[in-house]
Amino acid sequence: MHGYNHPVLNRAATEQLGKMSHVMFGGLTHDPAIELGQLLLPLVPPSMQKIFYADSGSVAVEVALKMAVQYWVAKSQESPDKGSLKQKSNFVTIRSGYHGDTWNAMSVCDPVTGMHSLFGPALPVRYFVPQPCSHFDGEWMPEDILPLKETIEQHADELAALILEPVVQGAGGMWFYHPQYLREAAALCREHGLLLIFDEIATGFGRTGRLFAWEHAGVESDIMCIGKALTGGYMTLSAVLATNEVADAISNHAPGAFMHGPTFMGNPLACAVAYASVRLLTSVEYDWQGKVSRIEAQLKRELEPARSLPQVADVRVLGAIGVIETSEPVDMAWMQRRFVEEGIWVRPFGKLVYLMPPFIIETEQLTKLTKGVIKIIKEIKR
Ligand SMILES: *Cc1c(COP(=O)(O)O)cnc(C)c1O
Repeated sequence: MHGYNHPVLNRAATEQLGKMSHVMFGGLTHDPAIELGQLLLPLVPPSMQKIFYADSGSVAVEVALKMAVQYWVAKSQESPDKGSLKQKSNFVTIRSGYHGDTWNAMSVCDPVTGMHSLFGPALPVRYFVPQPCSHFDGEWMPEDILPLKETIEQHADELAALILEPVVQGAGGMWFYHPQYLREAAALCREHGLLLIFDEIATGFGRTGRLFAWEHAGVESDIMCIGKALTGGYMTLSAVLATNEVADAISNHAPGAFMHGPTFMGNPLACAVAYASVRLLTSVEYDWQGKVSRIEAQLKRELEPARSLPQVADVRVLGAIGVIETSEPVDMAWMQRRFVEEGIWVRPFGKLVYLMPPFIIETEQLTKLTKGVIKIIKEIKR
C-alpha cells in the first residue's frame, strides 16, 4: 500500500533481522509482537481486546472459525442442559464472499466463484444466503435481510457464527453492499446467539475510505480477521481479534487455552514490518484519508464514463477500489496480454476488471491505469 522498497519498512525489517528473526511464540513473547498489539488495539473496534497472530489470511479465517466453535464448546460447559450448545458448530455466510484457500476458508467462499465445483464433496457444508442487493450508496431494501433472518431462525441451534466481509466483498465479486445489512445481521446474531465474524483482510487499513470497513455501519463483531495490508503487503502476517467475552470463555474452560499454535505465529520480522507500516499509515504527515479520497475522486471521474460503453454493465468506486463490471465474462488471457502491452498490470476475473492502487500512486500513474483499462474494454468484441 506504500509502494515497493519503502525505506521505513526496509529499515524495520533489516533492524529486526539484526536482532532476532524468529522464536516460537509458545510460552514466551517478544517486543515486536507486544508493540504491534499496543499499536493495533486503539485502531480496531473498541470491543476487540485480544489479538491472536496468525500466518496468513486463510489461516486467520481458520482460526476465527475454530474460535467460534471452541467458544460454544466452552459455553456448553456452564449451561444447564450440558451439550446442546456444542451443536453450535456450523456457519452461515453470504454468497459472493471470499475468505481464502484453505479447507474451511474455502467452505465459506462463494460456491460458484469459489472452488466448490472442484472440492465440493470434500468440503464441510455451510449455509449460504444470497448476497445483499442493496447497493452501498443506494436505497436500503428491507427484504434484503429476510433470507438471513429465515436461515438464522431455523438453524440457530447448529450455527456457531455468521462470517462475512463487511460492506465490500472482495475477490468473490467486488461488490459494495448497504451498511444497513450489517446492522440488521448483527442484531439477528445477538438475538439468536450467533457470534459475528468480520473478515477485514481485504478491507482493512483504509482501503474503503475508513480505517476498517465496519466503521461504515458502526456495528462491532465478536471476532475480526485482518491481514494483507497489515504489513503494507511486504510479507505474510495476519491477526484474529476477539472480544474479552470470546477470549475469556475459551481461556476459562477446558482445555484452558485456544487450540491453535502455528510455528511461525507472531514472527518478529513480520511484526516489526507491520508495526512500521501501521505507524507510517496512521501518521499525520502520511494523511491516508486525503490520499484515499483523492484516489476515490479520480477513480470516479475517470472510470464513470465507461458506464455508457456497450461492453460495460456497471461501474463502482469506493475508497481506493475501482471496479468495472463487464456485460460478459472477459477472455482473461487475451485481456491480460493487452494490459501488459499497454504498460499496465491489471488482473481481471470473470466479469470484473478492478483497480486497487497503492495509496502513494500519483495522479498521472492512476490516469495511465484508468485510460488503459477503458481502452482495452472498448476492444472487447460483442
Ligand atoms: C485475501 C483474502 C483472504 C485470504 O488471505 P491469504 O493471505 O491470501 O490467505 C481471506 N479473506 C479475504 C477477505 C481476502 O481478501
